[in-house]
Amino acid sequence: MSGFMDTKIEFLKGVGPTKAKQLKEELGILTFADLIYHFPFRYEDRSQFHTINQIDINAENVQIKGLIDRVETVGTAKKQRLTAILKDSTGHIELVWFKGVKWMKSKLKPGVPYIVYGKPSLFQTKFSISHPEIEVLTPSNETGKKTMIPVYATTEKLKRKFVDSKAIAKLQLELIKSKGFNVIETVDEIVRKEFGLVDLNTALRSIHFPTDIQAKNQALERLKFDELFFIQLKIFREKSDQKEVHKGIIFQKSHLVHEFYENHIPFELTKSQKQVIKEIYTDLHSGYQMNRLLQGDVGSGKTITAFVCMLIAIGSGFQTTIMAPTEILAIQHFQGLAEYCHKLGLNIRLITGSTKKSSRKKYLEELASGEMNILVGTHALIENDVQFNRLGLAVIDEQHRFGVAQRAKLWQKNKHVYPHVLVMTATPIPRTLAMTLYGDLEVSTIRELPKGRKPIKTSHLYDSSRLKLFGFIQREVDLGRQVYIVYPLIEESSTLDYKDLMDGYESIARAFPRVPLSILHGRMKAKDKDYEMDRFARGETKIMVATTVIEVGINVPNASVMVIENAERFGLSQLHQLRGRVGRGADQSYCILMAKNKISKEARARIGCMVATTDGFEIAEKDLELRGPGDLMGTQQSGLLDLKVADLTTDGELLKRARSMAESIIEKDPELSNPEYSRMSRHLKKNQMATLKWSTIS
Ligand code: ADP
Ligand code: MG
Repeated sequence: MSGFMDTKIEFLKGVGPTKAKQLKEELGILTFADLIYHFPFRYEDRSQFHTINQIDINAENVQIKGLIDRVETVGTAKKQRLTAILKDSTGHIELVWFKGVKWMKSKLKPGVPYIVYGKPSLFQTKFSISHPEIEVLTPSNETGKKTMIPVYATTEKLKRKFVDSKAIAKLQLELIKSKGFNVIETVDEIVRKEFGLVDLNTALRSIHFPTDIQAKNQALERLKFDELFFIQLKIFREKSDQKEVHKGIIFQKSHLVHEFYENHIPFELTKSQKQVIKEIYTDLHSGYQMNRLLQGDVGSGKTITAFVCMLIAIGSGFQTTIMAPTEILAIQHFQGLAEYCHKLGLNIRLITGSTKKSSRKKYLEELASGEMNILVGTHALIENDVQFNRLGLAVIDEQHRFGVAQRAKLWQKNKHVYPHVLVMTATPIPRTLAMTLYGDLEVSTIRELPKGRKPIKTSHLYDSSRLKLFGFIQREVDLGRQVYIVYPLIEESSTLDYKDLMDGYESIARAFPRVPLSILHGRMKAKDKDYEMDRFARGETKIMVATTVIEVGINVPNASVMVIENAERFGLSQLHQLRGRVGRGADQSYCILMAKNKISKEARARIGCMVATTDGFEIAEKDLELRGPGDLMGTQQSGLLDLKVADLTTDGELLKRARSMAESIIEKDPELSNPEYSRMSRHLKKNQMATLKWSTIS
């Protein structure tokens, strides 16, 4: 049934073609359903009257009944204001108008009772309300006002056409009171009962016109549940489908892992690393294709963890690959792993955009014949001529840097069976977000850093303390350490940003004439970048002036200082990533956040958070709180986290409960064929919600 709610908005009383067009263009409201789901973002609480002696100066708004006394214009003609005294039996308060003085004066009638609503403020020991809403008290509005009045988001353009919050409220009321008003219930009773949820019709009525706070909260709870629950239900549905379809390669027990552990591993793995390997090992023997996200803070040792898993695959005669988002990072992986591979007698190769044609050809032959065990590379790996003989496990490092499409192509590198996939990220994701975003990925987490790491000391300096900074850098360089100085580069093409970087480089060169410097930025040729990076990594240069190209993965254990210029321009996770470039050796490391004196409140909060903690998960939570999920990791494009009422920072508990409900339902009845689930089943089918599929290809 294409129901009542799908009716076009122009069929609502009070909406003609012009208004319909405006609502569509400005607010995206096309149908009755769109209108009813345009929720108020706050309410004016008119559910009670305050007496004047009860007024709390911190209150948002208060509503008072009283008589008007003494109306006066004060000040000179230019700066005139109107004051009036409002009295009730408990005291009096001043009302003030700075605009529309004449008009207001003609309206206010001393000795007449009024209802006044506005925000109280304290001015020289006297309470006052400026520009209150005010109307004459009548028997009908005295009770009529006792409600919560919805306030809607609108736009300047709409307001000019008189479609303000009040007008929208009027349309909502029109809709709700119209004869056929009926929203099809989406959640079956069995679930509603379990969660104590009100029905959808009630919820939608009350979200717009709650009788009191309790009714509003019940409506909100129900609508939040809907948002969170159906995402989870869909995720578990798809997951169960996928288990059917994607059988996975089962690896045999391998001597390689044993040999590596016994003879070559350079350090003891942390408990977390071992735990993660166990989880992955279980997946690799389960008979299902693995899709696992490995998250671990910068420096937590994800690479070696992945390497051990790769050995499991290689031991069974399969090939593996590790794909990195930048050439520099791919080279580092290659160099690090080549050492182990050499000892184990394995064939490992590197293919990037700058691999010579002749070498590339040779490697591709080795790959196709099965002679090669591990292929390391960048996006270059995705190209069609890269054909594996038997790809068993694909590891993708810093996965959020890759597009979904790029990942999907890797999946298809095997003809018959999908390879197991391990994606790694050093951008920790808060649990609530992971559940929603990566619902179809299993998640493993490395929680601890290798032993003996000293926490990085972080401080915040203003531009005015630059001399102090230079002194500090000099001392560290004299101690034989190395220093990064990073400039923001928001857009590769921004000339202004490059000027910042170059000016910075020059001033460093002047301040440290005898210290060898490197410079690194995105406009350099890959060859030159590698050359500079290499010199720095070998310790030939002591200070690296760079843009965020160095953000991901680079490992120079001797570097002990990370200076971030214009730190106020970076996001939290980026700051955290950058900081992770130091603290990789035995020395005490430092991160210095340079910022202008005048920065926004949010920037201050970000910097404060960086100074306060080095825990990536804590930082991720803060990031979520500051930015909201829509902004995190480019998820706004996905439409997935288009949550209207649920808030992943505060609704974690509800999310968890909704998720486990969804899970148990799908476990019992994967097809939702039980009549007890018919409403949910129908809703799920009707709303092919836009979710990201991280693990499947189409
Ligand atoms: P990330 O998780 O950021 O990718 P890496 O894999 O690059 O971290 O590891 C960072 C450094 O820590 C590397 O030099 C690596 O050899 C080292 N490392 C990894 N695991 C351990 C461990 N258990 N004990 C000591 N050092 C370790
Ligand atoms: Mg890494």
